[in-house]
Amino acid sequence: MEIKTIGVVGAGQMGNGIAQVAAQSGLRVVMSDIADAFVQKGLTTISKNLERMVEKGKIPSQKKDEMMGRIKGTIQLKEMSEADFVVEAATENETLKLNIFKELDQACRKEIILSSNTSSISITKIASVTRRPSQVIGMHFMNPVPVMQLVEIIRGLQTAEETFKTVKSLSLSLGKTPVEASDFPGFISNRILMPMINEAIYALFEGVGTPEAIDTVMKLGMNHPMGPLTLADLIGLDTCLAIMEVLYKGFGDSKYRPCPLLKKYVDAGYLGRKTGRGFYTY
Ligand code: NAD
Repeated sequence: MEIKTIGVVGAGQMGNGIAQVAAQSGLRVVMSDIADAFVQKGLTTISKNLERMVEKGKIPSQKKDEMMGRIKGTIQLKEMSEADFVVEAATENETLKLNIFKELDQACRKEIILSSNTSSISITKIASVTRRPSQVIGMHFMNPVPVMQLVEIIRGLQTAEETFKTVKSLSLSLGKTPVEASDFPGFISNRILMPMINEAIYALFEGVGTPEAIDTVMKLGMNHPMGPLTLADLIGLDTCLAIMEVLYKGFGDSKYRPCPLLKKYVDAGYLGRKTGRGFYTY
């Protein structure tokens, strides 16, 4: 089936990034969130990003208008019935995602693929609440979506080969490079990245270094483009904590225990860039 309209559930930083990339590739987009304020915020972010491309001379302003015209915002999940393919990019919470997939399964045509941009949650489990487990798959974009090349593709236990092929070719048509990972907590990316970020938070917690010192060591010493605490603020500390909890619970190994300082920051509402305060102030 040809994919002409893509449904994106969640208009946060990942959802609006996926919507932007899809619209830039000529697809129609239906982007949903739970409140109109979140939908409008997502649309504004996309508009600003495209405006910056116009200013830099990368696209004519008429193209920007065409792209924006292809994106429809909604607060009704049932409007995903218009989609030929869905990417779910709502908050990293298992119960929430299971409920969304139950609803999507009801709302969407039975032949379409339902994918999740989850950073860590079991695709097999998400698939199990639908009547189409062979058409459920992980499609894990990186942040910021318009900039980052990688899409990690995760097959659940029952994901069909045809589903995998479709997601691979969709990733390529969006200009991304797909890499396959197995369905274990955190897949490849966050199995490796998040324990490093968590350890950086422990280093701060135990007074080994200031945030600036920790980030500078990793940037100048390890050639990372940004330090782990800056990256944690970009990802969102709530998302980092949710991923560490999935790793900790999923592997039952104490090496994945989330740092108490990370928990405290999330409790305080210090979620990083998205709330203006995390390890740094924005
Ligand atoms: P975010 O907090 O920026 O956005 C999440 C959005 O989901 C919010 O706008 C929220 O209102 C919305 N939402 C919550 N419940 C919903 C529902 N029932 N229906 C529709 N929308 C709903 O978070 P994010 O960083 O965009 O993360 C979204 C997903 O992408 C998570 O699964 C996360 O793990 C994953 N992810 C995040 C990153 C990252 O760097 N932040 C990278 C890759 C993947």
